[in-house]
Amino acid sequence: MTTVKFYGGEAIPLEMHKVRIVQKLHLPPVERRLEAMNEAGNNTFLLQNVEVFMDMLTDSGVNAMSDQQLAAMMIADDSYAGSATYTRLESKLRELFGMHYILPTHQGRACENILAQVLVSPGTVVPMNYHFTTTKAHITLNGGSIEELVAEEGLEVVSVHPFKGNMDIAKLRAVIANHGATQIAFVRMEAGTNLIGGQPFSLQNLADVRQVCDEHGLLLVLDASLLADNLYFVKEREEACKDMSIREITRRFADLSDVIYFSARKLGCVRGGGMCMRSEDLYRRMRGLVPLYEGFLTYGGMSVREIEALTVGLEETMDEDMINQGPLFIAYMVEELERRGIPVITPAGGLGCHINALKFLDHIPQSEYPAGALASALYIASGIRGMERGTLSEQREPDGTEVFANMELLRLALPRRVFTLSQVKYAIDRIQWLYDNRRLVGGLVFTEEPEILRFFFGRLTPVSNWQQELVAKFRQDFGDSL
Ligand SMILES: *Cc1c(COP(=O)(O)O)cnc(C)c1O
Repeated sequence: MTTVKFYGGEAIPLEMHKVRIVQKLHLPPVERRLEAMNEAGNNTFLLQNVEVFMDMLTDSGVNAMSDQQLAAMMIADDSYAGSATYTRLESKLRELFGMHYILPTHQGRACENILAQVLVSPGTVVPMNYHFTTTKAHITLNGGSIEELVAEEGLEVVSVHPFKGNMDIAKLRAVIANHGATQIAFVRMEAGTNLIGGQPFSLQNLADVRQVCDEHGLLLVLDASLLADNLYFVKEREEACKDMSIREITRRFADLSDVIYFSARKLGCVRGGGMCMRSEDLYRRMRGLVPLYEGFLTYGGMSVREIEALTVGLEETMDEDMINQGPLFIAYMVEELERRGIPVITPAGGLGCHINALKFLDHIPQSEYPAGALASALYIASGIRGMERGTLSEQREPDGTEVFANMELLRLALPRRVFTLSQVKYAIDRIQWLYDNRRLVGGLVFTEEPEILRFFFGRLTPVSNWQQELVAKFRQDFGDSL
Protein backbone atom coordinates (compact mmCIF):
# COMPACT_ATOMS: atom_id res chain seq x y z
CA MET A 1 0.00 0.00 0.00
CA THR A 2 1.25 3.37 -0.77
CA THR A 3 0.05 6.86 -1.45
CA VAL A 4 0.80 6.88 -5.19
CA LYS A 5 -1.15 9.66 -6.95
CA PHE A 6 -3.50 8.57 -9.74
CA TYR A 7 -3.48 10.57 -13.01
CA GLY A 8 -7.18 10.11 -13.65
CA GLY A 9 -10.25 8.59 -12.03
CA GLU A 10 -10.79 7.66 -8.42
CA ALA A 11 -7.97 7.35 -5.92
CA ILE A 12 -7.87 3.74 -4.76
CA PRO A 13 -5.56 1.98 -2.32
CA LEU A 14 -2.65 0.37 -4.17
CA GLU A 15 -1.23 -2.94 -2.99
CA MET A 16 2.54 -3.03 -2.50
CA HIS A 17 2.63 -6.82 -2.77
CA LYS A 18 1.61 -9.46 -5.27
CA VAL A 19 -0.37 -12.65 -4.76
CA ARG A 20 1.70 -15.82 -5.14
CA ILE A 21 -0.43 -18.45 -3.43
CA VAL A 22 -4.22 -18.55 -3.78
CA GLN A 23 -7.06 -20.45 -2.13
CA LYS A 24 -10.26 -21.28 -4.01
CA LEU A 25 -13.46 -19.74 -2.68
CA HIS A 26 -17.02 -21.00 -2.96
CA LEU A 27 -20.22 -18.93 -2.96
CA PRO A 28 -23.28 -21.08 -2.13
CA PRO A 29 -26.68 -19.95 -3.52
CA VAL A 30 -28.87 -17.79 -1.30
CA GLU A 31 -31.23 -20.68 -0.40
CA ARG A 32 -28.29 -22.72 0.89
CA ARG A 33 -26.99 -19.69 2.80
CA LEU A 34 -30.35 -19.42 4.57
CA GLU A 35 -30.15 -23.11 5.58
CA ALA A 36 -26.52 -22.83 6.66
CA MET A 37 -27.27 -19.77 8.81
CA ASN A 38 -30.02 -21.68 10.61
CA GLU A 39 -27.87 -24.79 11.03
CA ALA A 40 -25.37 -22.42 12.69
CA GLY A 41 -28.02 -21.09 15.09
CA ASN A 42 -27.72 -17.61 13.53
CA ASN A 43 -24.28 -17.38 15.09
CA THR A 44 -21.55 -16.65 12.55
CA PHE A 45 -19.00 -18.36 14.82
CA LEU A 46 -20.83 -21.65 14.18
CA LEU A 47 -20.80 -21.45 10.36
CA GLN A 48 -18.63 -23.92 8.46
CA ASN A 49 -15.98 -22.05 6.50
CA VAL A 50 -16.79 -24.03 3.31
CA GLU A 51 -20.13 -22.18 3.32
CA VAL A 52 -18.43 -18.78 3.55
CA PHE A 53 -17.42 -16.65 0.56
CA MET A 54 -15.59 -13.75 2.23
CA ASP A 55 -14.53 -14.56 5.78
CA MET A 56 -14.60 -11.19 7.52
CA LEU A 57 -15.14 -12.68 10.98
CA THR A 58 -11.77 -11.68 12.35
CA ASP A 59 -8.22 -10.62 11.66
CA SER A 60 -7.05 -13.23 14.15
CA GLY A 61 -4.61 -15.79 12.75
CA VAL A 62 -5.82 -15.19 9.18
CA ASN A 63 -3.59 -12.40 7.89
CA ALA A 64 -1.66 -13.36 4.76
CA MET A 65 1.93 -14.23 5.52
CA SER A 66 4.86 -13.00 3.44
CA ASP A 67 7.27 -15.09 1.38
CA GLN A 68 9.97 -14.13 3.91
CA GLN A 69 7.87 -15.50 6.76
CA LEU A 70 7.22 -18.77 4.94
CA ALA A 71 10.91 -19.07 4.10
CA ALA A 72 11.87 -18.51 7.74
CA MET A 73 9.62 -21.39 8.82
CA MET A 74 11.92 -23.79 7.01
CA ILE A 75 14.91 -23.02 9.25
CA ALA A 76 13.09 -23.52 12.57
CA ASP A 77 15.03 -25.27 15.34
CA ASP A 78 12.65 -27.64 17.04
CA SER A 79 14.62 -28.54 20.15
CA TYR A 80 12.44 -28.62 23.27
CA ALA A 81 14.76 -26.41 25.33
CA GLY A 82 17.28 -23.78 24.28
CA SER A 83 15.93 -23.48 20.74
CA ALA A 84 17.84 -21.06 18.46
CA THR A 85 14.49 -20.14 16.96
CA TYR A 86 13.33 -18.84 20.32
CA THR A 87 16.57 -16.91 20.83
CA ARG A 88 15.93 -15.10 17.55
CA LEU A 89 12.41 -14.11 18.70
CA GLU A 90 13.70 -12.98 22.08
CA SER A 91 16.36 -10.79 20.44
CA LYS A 92 13.83 -9.21 18.08
CA LEU A 93 11.43 -8.39 20.92
CA ARG A 94 14.26 -6.92 23.01
CA GLU A 95 15.39 -4.87 20.03
CA LEU A 96 11.93 -3.49 19.20
CA PHE A 97 10.54 -2.94 22.70
CA GLY A 98 13.72 -2.50 24.74
CA MET A 99 12.40 -4.86 27.45
CA HIS A 100 14.65 -7.63 28.68
CA TYR A 101 12.26 -10.26 30.05
CA ILE A 102 10.17 -12.24 27.58
CA LEU A 103 7.54 -14.95 28.08
CA PRO A 104 6.07 -16.80 25.08
CA THR A 105 2.44 -17.97 25.08
CA HIS A 106 0.18 -19.80 22.67
CA GLN A 107 -2.03 -16.73 22.08
CA GLY A 108 -3.05 -13.36 23.52
CA ARG A 109 -5.62 -14.54 26.06
CA ALA A 110 -3.01 -16.84 27.58
CA CYS A 111 -1.06 -13.70 28.54
CA GLU A 112 -4.26 -12.35 30.08
CA ASN A 113 -4.69 -15.53 32.09
CA ILE A 114 -1.16 -15.28 33.50
CA LEU A 115 -1.37 -11.52 34.13
CA ALA A 116 -4.72 -11.87 35.89
CA GLN A 117 -3.62 -14.84 38.02
CA VAL A 118 -0.53 -12.99 39.21
CA LEU A 119 -1.81 -9.42 39.53
CA VAL A 120 -5.58 -9.59 40.11
CA SER A 121 -7.02 -10.62 43.48
CA PRO A 122 -10.61 -10.47 44.74
CA GLY A 123 -11.77 -6.88 45.08
CA THR A 124 -9.05 -5.32 42.92
CA VAL A 125 -9.81 -3.07 39.99
CA VAL A 126 -8.26 -2.76 36.53
CA PRO A 127 -8.86 0.64 34.89
CA MET A 128 -8.59 0.48 31.10
CA ASN A 129 -9.44 2.56 28.06
CA TYR A 130 -11.86 -0.18 26.95
CA HIS A 131 -12.32 -3.86 27.67
CA PHE A 132 -11.73 -6.81 25.37
CA THR A 133 -13.90 -9.91 25.82
CA THR A 134 -11.22 -12.34 27.00
CA THR A 135 -9.42 -9.69 29.09
CA LYS A 136 -12.55 -8.92 31.07
CA ALA A 137 -13.35 -12.62 31.50
CA HIS A 138 -9.90 -13.37 32.99
CA ILE A 139 -10.04 -10.39 35.35
CA THR A 140 -13.52 -11.24 36.63
CA LEU A 141 -12.62 -14.95 36.92
CA ASN A 142 -9.88 -13.90 39.37
CA GLY A 143 -12.30 -11.82 41.44
CA GLY A 144 -11.37 -8.40 40.03
CA SER A 145 -13.46 -5.87 38.19
CA ILE A 146 -12.81 -3.42 35.40
CA GLU A 147 -13.38 0.32 34.97
CA GLU A 148 -13.78 1.51 31.39
CA LEU A 149 -12.40 5.01 31.05
CA VAL A 150 -12.46 5.69 27.34
CA ALA A 151 -12.83 9.41 26.64
CA GLU A 152 -16.36 10.56 25.81
CA GLU A 153 -15.74 10.91 22.05
CA GLY A 154 -14.70 7.24 21.89
CA LEU A 155 -18.33 6.24 22.17
CA GLU A 156 -19.60 8.70 19.57
CA VAL A 157 -20.30 6.58 16.53
CA VAL A 158 -19.91 9.35 13.97
CA SER A 159 -16.89 11.50 14.69
CA VAL A 160 -13.83 13.12 13.22
CA HIS A 161 -11.81 12.62 16.41
CA PRO A 162 -8.44 11.11 15.43
CA PHE A 163 -7.92 9.21 18.72
CA LYS A 164 -11.16 7.68 19.90
CA GLY A 165 -9.25 5.07 21.93
CA ASN A 166 -7.85 7.69 24.33
CA MET A 167 -8.31 7.24 28.05
CA ASP A 168 -9.99 10.05 29.98
CA ILE A 169 -7.25 11.11 32.39
CA ALA A 170 -9.63 12.88 34.80
CA LYS A 171 -11.70 9.69 35.05
CA LEU A 172 -8.54 7.68 35.74
CA ARG A 173 -7.64 10.01 38.62
CA ALA A 174 -11.20 9.74 39.96
CA VAL A 175 -11.15 5.93 39.86
CA ILE A 176 -7.83 5.80 41.70
CA ALA A 177 -9.11 8.26 44.32
CA ASN A 178 -12.32 6.30 44.70
CA HIS A 179 -10.81 2.80 45.13
CA GLY A 180 -7.40 3.78 46.53
CA ALA A 181 -4.16 3.04 44.65
CA THR A 182 -3.57 -0.19 46.59
CA GLN A 183 -6.75 -1.69 45.13
CA ILE A 184 -5.63 -1.04 41.52
CA ALA A 185 -4.15 -4.28 40.12
CA PHE A 186 -2.74 -2.50 37.07
CA VAL A 187 -3.75 0.05 34.47
CA ARG A 188 -4.37 -1.35 30.98
CA MET A 189 -4.17 0.48 27.67
CA GLU A 190 -5.38 -1.37 24.59
CA ALA A 191 -3.82 -0.29 21.30
CA GLY A 192 -6.24 -0.13 18.35
CA THR A 193 -9.18 -0.48 20.76
CA ASN A 194 -10.90 -3.56 19.37
CA LEU A 195 -14.51 -3.39 20.53
CA ILE A 196 -15.13 0.27 19.71
CA GLY A 197 -14.09 -0.02 16.08
CA GLY A 198 -10.32 -0.51 16.08
CA GLN A 199 -9.75 3.05 17.25
CA PRO A 200 -6.25 4.23 18.27
CA PHE A 201 -4.99 6.23 21.24
CA SER A 202 -2.33 8.89 20.86
CA LEU A 203 1.23 8.72 22.10
CA GLN A 204 0.47 11.83 24.17
CA ASN A 205 -2.44 10.07 25.86
CA LEU A 206 -0.23 7.13 26.79
CA ALA A 207 2.31 9.60 28.23
CA ASP A 208 -0.47 11.21 30.29
CA VAL A 209 -1.57 7.81 31.62
CA ARG A 210 2.06 7.02 32.47
CA GLN A 211 2.28 10.25 34.46
CA VAL A 212 -0.71 9.28 36.61
CA CYS A 213 0.67 5.74 37.08
CA ASP A 214 3.98 7.21 38.26
CA GLU A 215 2.21 9.47 40.75
CA HIS A 216 0.58 6.43 42.35
CA GLY A 217 3.20 3.74 41.75
CA LEU A 218 0.93 1.78 39.40
CA LEU A 219 1.88 -0.77 36.77
CA LEU A 220 1.00 0.17 33.17
CA VAL A 221 0.21 -2.75 30.88
CA LEU A 222 -0.05 -2.30 27.11
CA ASP A 223 -2.20 -4.74 25.14
CA ALA A 224 -0.29 -4.53 21.85
CA SER A 225 -2.38 -7.04 19.88
CA LEU A 226 -3.56 -4.31 17.49
CA LEU A 227 -0.41 -2.22 17.80
CA ALA A 228 0.32 -2.20 14.05
CA ASP A 229 -2.82 -0.18 13.26
CA ASN A 230 -2.26 2.13 16.23
CA LEU A 231 1.32 2.83 15.08
CA TYR A 232 0.12 3.72 11.60
CA PHE A 233 -2.56 6.10 12.93
CA VAL A 234 -0.15 7.81 15.32
CA LYS A 235 2.23 8.48 12.44
CA GLU A 236 -0.63 9.70 10.21
CA ARG A 237 -2.62 11.72 12.73
CA GLU A 238 -0.35 12.90 15.55
CA GLU A 239 1.53 16.04 14.58
CA ALA A 240 4.45 15.38 16.94
CA CYS A 241 5.04 11.92 15.39
CA LYS A 242 4.77 12.58 11.68
CA ASP A 243 8.53 12.65 11.16
CA MET A 244 9.25 9.64 13.36
CA SER A 245 9.81 6.18 11.91
CA ILE A 246 7.45 3.36 12.90
CA ARG A 247 10.38 1.86 14.81
CA GLU A 248 10.82 5.06 16.82
CA ILE A 249 7.11 5.30 17.63
CA THR A 250 7.13 1.65 18.71
CA ARG A 251 9.96 2.36 21.12
CA ARG A 252 8.15 5.40 22.55
CA PHE A 253 5.09 3.22 23.25
CA ALA A 254 7.28 0.60 24.91
CA ASP A 255 9.26 3.12 26.98
CA LEU A 256 6.00 4.35 28.51
CA SER A 257 4.82 0.83 29.43
CA ASP A 258 5.87 -1.64 32.15
CA VAL A 259 4.47 -4.74 30.47
CA ILE A 260 3.59 -5.35 26.83
CA TYR A 261 1.55 -8.38 25.84
CA PHE A 262 0.16 -9.31 22.46
CA SER A 263 -1.72 -11.78 20.37
CA ALA A 264 0.65 -12.79 17.57
CA ARG A 265 -2.47 -13.93 15.72
CA LYS A 266 -2.76 -10.21 14.96
CA LEU A 267 0.64 -8.62 15.60
CA GLY A 268 3.17 -10.40 13.40
CA CYS A 269 0.56 -12.24 11.28
CA VAL A 270 1.13 -15.74 12.73
CA ARG A 271 -0.47 -17.78 15.53
CA GLY A 272 0.96 -17.22 18.99
CA GLY A 273 1.49 -14.63 21.67
CA GLY A 274 3.96 -13.16 24.10
CA MET A 275 4.72 -10.87 27.00
CA CYS A 276 7.62 -8.49 27.49
CA MET A 277 8.52 -6.70 30.70
CA ARG A 278 11.27 -4.78 32.43
CA SER A 279 10.83 -6.07 35.99
CA GLU A 280 12.77 -9.20 36.88
CA ASP A 281 10.60 -9.64 39.96
CA LEU A 282 7.39 -9.66 37.92
CA TYR A 283 9.00 -12.01 35.40
CA ARG A 284 9.83 -14.47 38.16
CA ARG A 285 6.28 -14.33 39.50
CA MET A 286 4.76 -15.06 36.10
CA ARG A 287 7.35 -17.44 34.69
CA GLY A 288 6.14 -20.50 36.60
CA LEU A 289 2.72 -20.33 34.99
CA VAL A 290 4.10 -20.64 31.44
CA PRO A 291 5.14 -24.32 31.66
CA LEU A 292 1.89 -25.00 33.55
CA TYR A 293 -0.51 -23.60 30.93
CA GLU A 294 1.52 -23.02 27.77
CA GLY A 295 4.64 -25.10 27.31
CA PHE A 296 8.31 -24.81 28.11
CA LEU A 297 9.82 -21.30 28.34
CA THR A 298 11.40 -21.49 24.90
CA TYR A 299 8.19 -22.13 22.96
CA GLY A 300 5.19 -21.32 25.18
CA GLY A 301 2.80 -23.51 23.23
CA MET A 302 3.74 -22.07 19.83
CA SER A 303 5.10 -24.21 17.02
CA VAL A 304 8.73 -23.30 16.35
CA ARG A 305 7.76 -22.59 12.74
CA GLU A 306 5.28 -19.98 13.90
CA ILE A 307 7.93 -18.49 16.19
CA GLU A 308 10.37 -18.18 13.31
CA ALA A 309 7.67 -16.49 11.19
CA LEU A 310 6.75 -14.22 14.09
CA THR A 311 10.30 -12.87 14.34
CA VAL A 312 10.11 -11.90 10.67
CA GLY A 313 6.53 -10.64 11.03
CA LEU A 314 7.51 -8.32 13.88
CA GLU A 315 10.29 -6.82 11.76
CA GLU A 316 7.85 -6.43 8.82
CA THR A 317 5.51 -4.52 11.15
CA MET A 318 8.12 -1.76 11.19
CA ASP A 319 7.47 -1.24 7.44
CA GLU A 320 4.87 1.47 6.81
CA ASP A 321 3.93 -0.07 3.45
CA MET A 322 3.00 -3.24 5.30
CA ILE A 323 1.02 -1.83 8.23
CA ASN A 324 -0.93 0.71 6.18
CA GLN A 325 -2.52 -1.97 3.96
CA GLY A 326 -5.27 -2.77 6.48
CA PRO A 327 -6.17 0.84 7.40
CA LEU A 328 -6.19 2.02 3.75
CA PHE A 329 -8.51 -0.79 2.59
CA ILE A 330 -10.74 -0.15 5.59
CA ALA A 331 -10.80 3.60 4.88
CA TYR A 332 -11.84 2.85 1.28
CA MET A 333 -14.70 0.63 2.40
CA VAL A 334 -15.86 3.02 5.14
CA GLU A 335 -15.85 6.02 2.80
CA GLU A 336 -17.74 4.16 0.05
CA LEU A 337 -20.41 3.04 2.54
CA GLU A 338 -20.65 6.52 4.05
CA ARG A 339 -21.13 8.02 0.57
CA ARG A 340 -24.14 5.68 0.15
CA GLY A 341 -25.63 6.90 3.44
CA ILE A 342 -24.95 3.63 5.27
CA PRO A 343 -24.22 4.13 9.00
CA VAL A 344 -20.62 3.19 9.78
CA ILE A 345 -18.18 4.06 12.55
CA THR A 346 -16.08 7.07 11.63
CA PRO A 347 -13.32 7.91 11.31
CA ALA A 348 -12.24 4.59 9.76
CA GLY A 349 -10.16 2.64 12.27
CA GLY A 350 -8.09 -0.50 12.08
CA LEU A 351 -9.11 -4.15 12.10
CA GLY A 352 -12.16 -3.77 9.92
CA CYS A 353 -15.16 -1.80 8.80
CA HIS A 354 -17.76 -1.42 11.54
CA ILE A 355 -21.42 -1.00 10.63
CA ASN A 356 -23.63 0.72 13.17
CA ALA A 357 -26.43 -1.80 13.53
CA LEU A 358 -28.37 0.32 16.01
CA LYS A 359 -28.98 2.80 13.21
CA PHE A 360 -28.97 0.38 10.24
CA LEU A 361 -31.73 -1.63 11.95
CA ASP A 362 -33.25 1.08 14.14
CA HIS A 363 -36.56 -0.80 14.19
CA ILE A 364 -35.02 -3.72 16.16
CA PRO A 365 -34.78 -3.28 19.98
CA GLN A 366 -31.44 -4.07 21.67
CA SER A 367 -33.14 -6.95 23.47
CA GLU A 368 -33.46 -8.63 20.02
CA TYR A 369 -29.78 -8.13 19.15
CA PRO A 370 -29.73 -5.83 16.10
CA ALA A 371 -26.00 -6.46 15.43
CA GLY A 372 -26.52 -10.22 15.57
CA ALA A 373 -29.52 -9.92 13.25
CA LEU A 374 -27.45 -7.85 10.82
CA ALA A 375 -24.66 -10.45 10.84
CA SER A 376 -27.21 -13.15 10.04
CA ALA A 377 -28.89 -11.07 7.31
CA LEU A 378 -25.61 -10.10 5.64
CA TYR A 379 -24.46 -13.71 5.45
CA ILE A 380 -27.75 -14.68 3.81
CA ALA A 381 -27.50 -11.74 1.38
CA SER A 382 -23.86 -12.23 0.42
CA GLY A 383 -22.06 -15.25 1.87
CA ILE A 384 -19.98 -12.76 3.87
CA ARG A 385 -19.27 -13.73 7.46
CA GLY A 386 -18.95 -10.82 9.89
CA MET A 387 -18.88 -10.73 13.69
CA GLU A 388 -21.45 -9.34 16.08
CA ARG A 389 -19.89 -6.81 18.44
CA GLY A 390 -22.79 -5.62 20.56
CA THR A 391 -25.13 -6.88 23.26
CA LEU A 392 -24.66 -10.53 22.24
CA SER A 393 -20.94 -10.18 23.02
CA GLU A 394 -21.76 -8.94 26.53
CA GLN A 395 -22.44 -11.10 29.56
CA ARG A 396 -25.63 -10.94 31.61
CA GLU A 397 -25.42 -9.61 35.19
CA PRO A 398 -25.30 -12.39 37.84
CA ASP A 399 -29.05 -11.80 38.42
CA GLY A 400 -29.76 -12.45 34.75
CA THR A 401 -30.44 -8.90 33.55
CA GLU A 402 -29.21 -8.15 30.09
CA VAL A 403 -26.29 -5.69 29.76
CA PHE A 404 -26.98 -3.53 26.72
CA ALA A 405 -23.76 -2.72 24.87
CA ASN A 406 -22.73 0.90 24.31
CA MET A 407 -22.63 0.18 20.61
CA GLU A 408 -24.29 -2.40 18.37
CA LEU A 409 -21.73 -3.14 15.69
CA LEU A 410 -21.33 -5.57 12.85
CA ARG A 411 -17.60 -5.88 12.39
CA LEU A 412 -16.35 -6.80 8.96
CA ALA A 413 -12.68 -7.56 9.48
CA LEU A 414 -10.20 -6.99 6.68
CA PRO A 415 -7.33 -9.34 7.44
CA ARG A 416 -4.12 -7.94 6.00
CA ARG A 417 -3.30 -8.66 2.33
CA VAL A 418 -6.10 -11.24 2.04
CA PHE A 419 -8.86 -9.63 -0.07
CA THR A 420 -8.72 -7.90 -3.44
CA LEU A 421 -10.43 -4.61 -4.15
CA SER A 422 -13.08 -6.31 -6.35
CA GLN A 423 -14.08 -8.48 -3.40
CA VAL A 424 -14.33 -5.36 -1.23
CA LYS A 425 -16.54 -3.79 -3.93
CA TYR A 426 -18.79 -6.89 -3.88
CA ALA A 427 -19.13 -6.51 -0.11
CA ILE A 428 -20.07 -2.83 -0.49
CA ASP A 429 -22.67 -3.70 -3.15
CA ARG A 430 -24.40 -6.38 -1.07
CA ILE A 431 -24.38 -4.18 2.06
CA GLN A 432 -26.08 -1.47 0.03
CA TRP A 433 -28.76 -3.93 -1.16
CA LEU A 434 -29.33 -5.01 2.42
CA TYR A 435 -29.56 -1.39 3.53
CA ASP A 436 -32.19 -0.66 0.89
CA ASN A 437 -34.14 -3.69 2.16
CA ARG A 438 -33.40 -3.24 5.86
CA ARG A 439 -37.08 -3.10 6.89
CA LEU A 440 -37.34 -6.80 5.98
CA VAL A 441 -34.79 -7.72 8.65
CA GLY A 442 -36.10 -8.72 12.09
CA GLY A 443 -34.59 -9.62 15.46
CA LEU A 444 -33.24 -12.79 17.06
CA VAL A 445 -33.88 -14.65 20.33
CA PHE A 446 -31.68 -17.19 22.12
CA THR A 447 -32.64 -20.85 21.95
CA GLU A 448 -29.45 -21.90 23.76
CA GLU A 449 -27.57 -19.41 25.93
CA PRO A 450 -24.30 -20.38 27.65
CA GLU A 451 -23.38 -18.39 30.77
CA ILE A 452 -19.80 -17.53 29.78
CA LEU A 453 -18.73 -16.12 26.38
CA ARG A 454 -22.20 -16.81 24.99
CA PHE A 455 -21.34 -15.21 21.66
CA PHE A 456 -19.01 -18.10 20.83
CA PHE A 457 -21.44 -20.99 21.37
CA GLY A 458 -24.92 -19.52 21.75
CA ARG A 459 -27.70 -20.42 19.30
CA LEU A 460 -30.50 -18.10 18.21
CA THR A 461 -33.59 -18.12 16.06
CA PRO A 462 -35.39 -15.33 14.15
CA VAL A 463 -38.42 -13.76 15.86
CA SER A 464 -40.50 -14.15 12.65
CA ASN A 465 -40.10 -15.54 9.13
CA TRP A 466 -38.13 -12.44 8.05
CA GLN A 467 -35.26 -14.51 6.64
CA GLN A 468 -37.54 -16.25 4.11
CA GLU A 469 -38.87 -12.84 3.03
CA LEU A 470 -35.32 -11.58 2.60
CA VAL A 471 -34.44 -14.54 0.36
CA ALA A 472 -37.58 -13.99 -1.73
CA LYS A 473 -36.64 -10.33 -2.24
CA PHE A 474 -33.09 -11.37 -3.16
CA ARG A 475 -34.42 -13.67 -5.89
CA GLN A 476 -36.74 -10.94 -7.15
CA ASP A 477 -33.87 -8.43 -7.41
CA PHE A 478 -30.97 -10.65 -8.50
CA GLY A 479 -32.72 -13.32 -10.61
CA ASP A 480 -30.68 -16.53 -10.66
CA SER A 481 -27.44 -14.80 -9.58
CA LEU A 482 -25.54 -16.16 -6.62
C1 LIG B 1 -7.38 -10.78 19.92
C2 LIG B 1 -7.12 -9.95 21.07
C3 LIG B 1 -6.78 -10.50 22.30
C4 LIG B 1 -6.75 -12.00 22.54
O1 LIG B 1 -5.81 -12.62 21.72
P1 LIG B 1 -6.01 -14.14 21.22
O2 LIG B 1 -4.74 -14.44 20.49
O3 LIG B 1 -7.20 -14.17 20.35
O4 LIG B 1 -6.17 -14.97 22.42
C5 LIG B 1 -6.53 -9.65 23.34
N1 LIG B 1 -6.61 -8.32 23.19
C6 LIG B 1 -6.94 -7.74 22.02
C7 LIG B 1 -6.98 -6.27 21.91
C8 LIG B 1 -7.21 -8.53 20.92
O5 LIG B 1 -7.55 -7.94 19.77
